[in-house]
Amino acid sequence: MGNVIFTTDDLQVQCPECKGKGEVNHDGTTTSCEKCEAKGVILTGLGQTLLHFVKSHLKIET
Ligand SMILES: [Zn+2]
Repeated sequence: MGNVIFTTDDLQVQCPECKGKGEVNHDGTTTSCEKCEAKGVILTGLGQTLLHFVKSHLKIET
């Protein structure tokens, strides 16, 4: 097979806001993390580029 050009870590990183949990705790109240939309990870620049590319070609209906 060909060389691996990038890995998952190049596309997304653990959310620094919620430390990958997808939720944050403020004063005893747990809420979904807005920074990562509760995913626990955020896309890197490369990840966003790839996602945009895939969506534009697959024409995913949202
Ligand atoms: Zn988060």
